[in-house]
Amino acid sequence: MNPASPQRIVIIGGGQGAGASLRHLRALAYGGITSVVCAEDQYPYERPPLSKDYLNGTTTLDALTLCKPENPREQFYLADTAERIDPAEKVVALRSGVSIPYDKLLIATGGEARKLVIAGADFPNVHYLRTVHDARRLRTALAACRAAQTLVLVIGGGWIGLEIAAAARQAGLATTLIEAAPQLCGRSLPAPVAAELLRAHQDRGVNIRLGCAIHALHGDDRATAATLSDGSTVPVGMVVVGIGLIPNTQLAADAALAVGNGIRVDVNGRTSDPHIYAVGDVAEFPCTWHGCAVRMETWNNANVQAARAISAMLQHAESPPAGDAVPWFWSDQFDLNLQVLGAPLAGDGSLVSTDAEGGALHLYIKSTRLIGAIGINRARDIRILKRAVERDPQLPFERVANCLANLRELL
Ligand code: FAD
Ligand code: NAP
Repeated sequence: MNPASPQRIVIIGGGQGAGASLRHLRALAYGGITSVVCAEDQYPYERPPLSKDYLNGTTTLDALTLCKPENPREQFYLADTAERIDPAEKVVALRSGVSIPYDKLLIATGGEARKLVIAGADFPNVHYLRTVHDARRLRTALAACRAAQTLVLVIGGGWIGLEIAAAARQAGLATTLIEAAPQLCGRSLPAPVAAELLRAHQDRGVNIRLGCAIHALHGDDRATAATLSDGSTVPVGMVVVGIGLIPNTQLAADAALAVGNGIRVDVNGRTSDPHIYAVGDVAEFPCTWHGCAVRMETWNNANVQAARAISAMLQHAESPPAGDAVPWFWSDQFDLNLQVLGAPLAGDGSLVSTDAEGGALHLYIKSTRLIGAIGINRARDIRILKRAVERDPQLPFERVANCLANLRELL
């Protein structure tokens, strides 16, 4: 073990950021003690399949598990919660009464699903999706709804809402999705791509109502009807809510760490306390692609930040590349694979190239550089563009436009 390495590392969290951090510690042959505190009663696992393969029953929790203890130097505290960090004493206090000392601490506490605040919001057939327990409940409820031939009402036209609407429709359920804003995924997609996604869902039988909010849910012991902002009432069998995420920053704020829209960190995940790092959905970092500090709620971001933070903590000789990584995420809905690279919304112009199979590649320009790209069923092209911008973050837009017939020429 590098003599400069910390002797004790504590990781708070049980998701992608925590799991990827432990895996990176192992990859760097860390020889100290690692303690992982997970509020959930599971070893850290991946969430993306919860709205896809796990929801439709084609994968298992075991296949999603990121890590289990591999040696006595790895201690897990499952179904326990970090309640307080004492940065002066370098100790984390758990709900169970245990106190764990650290040399370096990593916070990967993610976030909670934003809750609906309307009459009837606490009926038992109102669902959220963040954990594997939520996914199991949702799977059972969807099956019951199918058997009773009742309607699934999805609230929120973001990623959770669209993926669940697709899963419900594919299972043969009548599905209505309402979104308060005038377009789907308003915070992450430019309007033309959101319009393509809207058409794709409508063509496959999802009833989507934009500019429509929910006012109240009605019923005796469960929701059986919903009144909407346009004055209409719809009968419902179950309700699924996907209206965003609230980052779990309280622990950091109570420890007097700098917190804005998330826990403020530098490009290597270091917080305002040099011994404490934060990664994943909870961390707000300076992003050169967006030109400002952002919190990114994506699988890839949690992985990239975990690797950077652990390398920085261990002062590993092979330091991560300078600058921040290119943002990237995907979503699977019906037969569509959508991938978003860079920061399309920061663009000031665009170009679209479609293919005979119905796929589309949208390219976004800022000044003269390629600032982002969105592929619909164009996974190979996005992979090539990702490699190209990793090599040259200032990749000229004109070069990309000239290589559209064969993007491999960029490599
Ligand atoms: P999380 O994975 O949320 O983990 C946070 C963990 O910290 C939780 O286990 C929580 O219980 C625990 N915790 C919180 N507070 C405490 C505490 N005080 N003490 C101990 N433990 C605590 N991204 C994509 O790019 N593509 C996708 O297709 C995609 N699909 C998704 C589908 C679903 C259903 C969901 C929910 C997310 C999806 N995401 C997707 C987003 C991606 O999963 C997240 O960005 C990623 O999980 C973030 O990892 P994280 O470690 O920051 O947070
Ligand atoms: P999200 O992507 O932020 O979308 C929430 C949507 O709900 C937004 O369009 C929002 O509109 C809308 N909304 C907010 N309040 C509403 C209300 N009262 N009525 C109707 N609509 C409302 O969040 P999410 O879909 O809930 O997903 C939660 C988390 O899971 C996020 O971190 C997300 O990134 C992650 N996730 C990611 C993927 C993926 O990347 N493929 C898949 C599933 C989940 P405004 O923006 O106008 O508020």
